[in-house]
Amino acid sequence: MAKRDYYEILGVSKNASAEELKKAYRKLAIQFHPDKNPGNAEAEDKFKEAAEAYEVLSNEDKRAKYDRFGHAGMSGAGGFSGGGMNMDDIFSHFGDIFGFGGFGGGRSSGGRRVRKGTNLRVKVRLNMHDMVHGVEKKLKVRKHVACDACSGTGSEDGQTSTCPTCNGRGQVTQVAQTFLGAMQSTSTCPTCNGEGSIVKNKCRKCAGEGIVQGEEVIEVQLPAGITDGMQLSVSQKGNAAPRGGINGDLIVLIEEEEHPDLERHGKDLLYQLNVSFPDAVLGTQSEIPTVDGKVKVKIEPGTQAGKILRLRGKGLPDVNGYGTGDILVRINVFVPKTINKEERKLLEKLLESENFNASKAEKERGFFSKMRDFFE
Ligand SMILES: [Zn+2]
Ligand SMILES: [Zn+2]
Repeated sequence: MAKRDYYEILGVSKNASAEELKKAYRKLAIQFHPDKNPGNAEAEDKFKEAAEAYEVLSNEDKRAKYDRFGHAGMSGAGGFSGGGMNMDDIFSHFGDIFGFGGFGGGRSSGGRRVRKGTNLRVKVRLNMHDMVHGVEKKLKVRKHVACDACSGTGSEDGQTSTCPTCNGRGQVTQVAQTFLGAMQSTSTCPTCNGEGSIVKNKCRKCAGEGIVQGEEVIEVQLPAGITDGMQLSVSQKGNAAPRGGINGDLIVLIEEEEHPDLERHGKDLLYQLNVSFPDAVLGTQSEIPTVDGKVKVKIEPGTQAGKILRLRGKGLPDVNGYGTGDILVRINVFVPKTINKEERKLLEKLLESENFNASKAEKERGFFSKMRDFFE
């Protein structure tokens, strides 16, 4: 089934503000909440759909990517994960959406904060051949990895204990009196920073953080048709989180290595071909570089300077699969800056020849176009 447009799902315009998005999502989340629609699979789908749309559009990076590439930019070719949310993900956002503590009691695990590692950004330089065909790269990155001394727990003896302030809930609840009556608000536990547990005996190697600076070789599959400046995210390959949370993402920024001869214009490539004056007149065969080696093209007799030949399908593929570009060969007729005596003689002789008389050819063209004007 084709995915619906995220803006359409939330019923907002393409330039909706963060506040409008939140409002629209809040309305749908209440309408389709599973507690209100027990056993209604359709409502659950709508609930998940709205959550996914909000998850993407409320994130500046993801929204920009979605605006540019649509759903293809989210799930993407080549194993980049994006969508797919489970109920726990959805409920974990409710604190933010509803201000305090969600509603209907939420979930028993809902309050505890799972630490997330930071995203890691790496640049990858690609030549045109790799961009055309796609490529698998092994990237060696320096990043936070789980501490091997404590297996990422942060604890010297492997022991953690339940936080006494929040009893492991990760949150503390306060009741405040307002003009609307008693309002219950929930905030992150200050003792354990929302983790629900504390480490008494901190690991000496990582100072209780559970992470150390390390290195990892990460294989990434870069799909055909990517372009300079694109960012691809590889889920959970970024920095490890303190004390066993979720890894951040690895963001791969693509940089394009310029081709020595081919100039990129979107999917098309431009090549400037110098043809000698005699070859332009007599016709010849030339070799054109492509991203996959050279190809021969025929230059017809009487080829004019500025003419453009099109080599279909020799350009770059579209990352979303919308066809492949061409190589455009622009003919420049080479005019030498210096000549010797003998060459001068040959050229002067040509000047006397009728077919090489440009002003006469111009006059004839003028005459015929006047004739056309007359008869029209
Ligand atoms: Zn450690
Ligand atoms: Zn606590």
